[in-house]
Amino acid sequence: MARFLDPGNGAWTAEQIDAMNRIRDAALSDDFALAELRHLTDNIGPRLSGSPQAAQAVDYVAAEMRALGAAVTLEKTTVPHWVRGLETAALVNWNGMAPNTVQKIVLTALGGSGATPAAGITAPVVVVPDFDVFKRLPPGALKGKILLFNHAFDKQLAAQGSGGEAYGQSVVYRTAGPGLAASAGALAVLVRSVGGTEYRLPHTGVAFYDPALPRIPAAAVTAEDADLIADLATQGAVQMHLTLTPQNLPKVESYNVIADWKGSTHPEQVVIVSGHLDSWDLGTGAIDDGAGVVVSMQAIHLLQKLNIHPQRTIRFVAWMDEESGSEGAQTYAADHAGELKDHVAALESDLGCDHPTGIIFDGAPELREWLAPVARQLAPIGAAVLSAGEDVGEDVNSVVSQGVPGFTPAQDGRFYFNYHHTAADTFDKVDPRHLNENAAVMAVLAYALADSSTPAPRAVAK
Ligand SMILES: [Zn+2]
Repeated sequence: MARFLDPGNGAWTAEQIDAMNRIRDAALSDDFALAELRHLTDNIGPRLSGSPQAAQAVDYVAAEMRALGAAVTLEKTTVPHWVRGLETAALVNWNGMAPNTVQKIVLTALGGSGATPAAGITAPVVVVPDFDVFKRLPPGALKGKILLFNHAFDKQLAAQGSGGEAYGQSVVYRTAGPGLAASAGALAVLVRSVGGTEYRLPHTGVAFYDPALPRIPAAAVTAEDADLIADLATQGAVQMHLTLTPQNLPKVESYNVIADWKGSTHPEQVVIVSGHLDSWDLGTGAIDDGAGVVVSMQAIHLLQKLNIHPQRTIRFVAWMDEESGSEGAQTYAADHAGELKDHVAALESDLGCDHPTGIIFDGAPELREWLAPVARQLAPIGAAVLSAGEDVGEDVNSVVSQGVPGFTPAQDGRFYFNYHHTAADTFDKVDPRHLNENAAVMAVLAYALADSSTPAPRAVAK
């Protein structure tokens, strides 16, 4: 029974537990993260890799972190430079149509998509629900056709809070579908939007191509338009006119922003606290992932404000190019390959900023018990649940795979994928209270990992 009354402080002293509580409370009443997010989204705007806004955001965040007294370096990387063009589509022939009419189709080009001729293309649409049906198409069935992958996002799964799982089941159609369609000789490819919105909003995202095959035009259609096309296709031939004019320009130089809050006794030991600075171009990247960047900035801001200097270095990273191929994360893993033994932990927030219910960890099973004293300090904000996971953030996954313990806030996942990669990912979607709850989780956790008596237990490299 005594264990319930005094569960112990584990790897921390009573003073350090007190510091966690002060950081948590300060996070909840601080407007730094919100102000930074407002600037990134409303003032700078969308931050697509290779864009002038992404470059401006790098300079802005670097200056803000310098102002906090952190040691800032810009880590050079090379990123894709894709620019959206015109994107229109209409059905021009289908069963039962009124003569001389069209039906508008709402879509948006996928990142990396190739272009149609400026005047567009007109072609029949072939609809498949999944890869199994795609594989069974007779050879040549897609020659000169537009292929639609009509795989529905599982809204029920998302409604139960497992938005990430629902996304994982569908996103492969967007990432791999275009390359497969090109390999089968399709003229262009459409993918049902990977997301839960019901307001006829298309969700963009990256498409990957085999460099040996043509970069065919690729777009996401809204769920409503995918249903329409699929319905008409069961009744007879459907013809579409499609115009997509994006440009794939030469790669450009860009940067990860790295800002170290130096450790007082073990500066070489590093805890990464991070989000990705690039975003898609339809909205302003507030929940994906401006929020992750600013809650990570807030972690350093709170240490400065409370004059707390943990033993190990807390390294803020604003990653570049998560959305278009994670060039920034690959550069970091290569540049710091020899230092990963001194990386004590890696945190990333990249699942929005709804209410956090706790912490997801990826690493040794012992982490659960080791972290328990930290989780208890997050109970007052309802964020004390520890759960094991295998994906704590695209940018830190490669570091985590080398045995570095990985962490991310566990988010209420019911709503994120309604806005994700759409024009509706804007500043107003962020609840200031939830933003600060996430900042509290990131800041308390980063501090705890940087100041524990012994480093967090490590896993063997995967
Ligand atoms: Zn993201």
